[in-house]
Amino acid sequence: MIVVLKPNISKKDETRVVREIRRLGYKPHVIHGVERTVIGAIGDERTHHTLETLITFPQVESVMPVQKRYKLVSRQAHPANSIINVRGNLIGGTKFHVMAGPCSVESEKQLLKTAQAVKAAGATILRGGAFKPRTSPYEFQGLGTKGLKILAKARQETGLPIITELLSEDHADMVAEYADVLQIGTRNAQNFQLLIAAAKTGKPVLLKRGLSMKIEEWLLAGEYILAHDNPGLMFCERGIRTFETYTRNTLDLSAIPIIKNESHCPIVIDPSQGAGRAELVLTMCKGAVAMGADALLVEVHPNPAEAWSDGAQQLSLEGFKQLMAAVQPFIAAAGRE
Ligand code: PEP
Ligand code: MN
Repeated sequence: MIVVLKPNISKKDETRVVREIRRLGYKPHVIHGVERTVIGAIGDERTHHTLETLITFPQVESVMPVQKRYKLVSRQAHPANSIINVRGNLIGGTKFHVMAGPCSVESEKQLLKTAQAVKAAGATILRGGAFKPRTSPYEFQGLGTKGLKILAKARQETGLPIITELLSEDHADMVAEYADVLQIGTRNAQNFQLLIAAAKTGKPVLLKRGLSMKIEEWLLAGEYILAHDNPGLMFCERGIRTFETYTRNTLDLSAIPIIKNESHCPIVIDPSQGAGRAELVLTMCKGAVAMGADALLVEVHPNPAEAWSDGAQQLSLEGFKQLMAAVQPFIAAAGRE
C-alpha cells in the first residue's frame, strides 16, 4: 500500500504513522518529496490488518493499494488466453463462437424450432432461460425444472451444448446436472455465495456484468470462481445502466479491450440485453467481433412479438440467419474462424 501524508507534516506526526504501519505488521519505507512524504508499506493484506484504516489519521491524505486486488483472473497470473472447453467447443481460442436461443424456454416446440434454426445458421451453443430473474414478481418466472428438461432434449436432438441461468444456490447441483455452462445473471453478479456454489459444480461459468458494476468489481466477482478451483470462467458484458434511456442499457464495448488486457478469461458480448432493441443487435455484434470479443450471446425467438420475455430485443429465426452471414466478414477480419 502507498500512504500519502498531508503537506508540511511534522516529523512527530510522520513517526506516528510509521509506528502504526509497523504495529499493523507492515514494513514502512519513507520517501521524502519536496512538499510531501509518501510511505510505502510492504506486506500482504490477507495476513495482516488492512491499512485502509490509516485514513482515519488526521495527518494521512490517502491510502492506495499498489497490487491489484484480483490475482487469479489477472493476465499476470496467466499470460496466455484461457480456453474454456464446452463439450468440445473451445471458447477463447481461434474459433469464434455464437451462443443463441430464446430469452426464456417457453415450450418444447418453441425451443426445438429455435435450436434447429440457430444450429443451421452456425450457432455452436444453445441459450435459454429456465429460471428467470424478473424485475416484477407478476411476470413470467420461467418453466423451472421443466425448462431444463426441454433444454436437455434440445441438446439431444441438435448436439448443441446448453447455457442457462443459475438463479439460486439451492438449485446449483440440479441446474448443473442439465447445463453445460452456468450463466450468472446481471442481478446476481455480486451474489458471492451463488458464485461460490456455481464454481463448486465444476461447470464453466459465464458471469454477466452487474447493472452498475465497475470493471474492477466484475473482475473481483470472477476471482471468486477461480479462487474456488473452477478455471472455466467467461466474462459477459451485457450493458450497464447509465443516464441514457434510448437503449435498455448502454453496451460498454470498451470492456472488451479492458478485459483482454487485465484478464486471460474469454469475453462474451450480449448485445440483446445490451441494446434491448432487435434493430441494433447486428451492428453491436459487428463492433464486438471487430473489437476482439471471443463469443456472442444473442436472443432468438420464432416469433419475437409473442415472446414471454424480452420480445423487443429478440431476433427472428430469419433475422438471426442474416446476422450470422453479416458478421462473417468481421470474424474473418478479426483473424478468427
Ligand atoms: C438473459 O440473458 O435473458 C438475462 C436475464 O440476462 P441479464 O442477467 O444480463 O439481464
Ligand atoms: Mn433476456
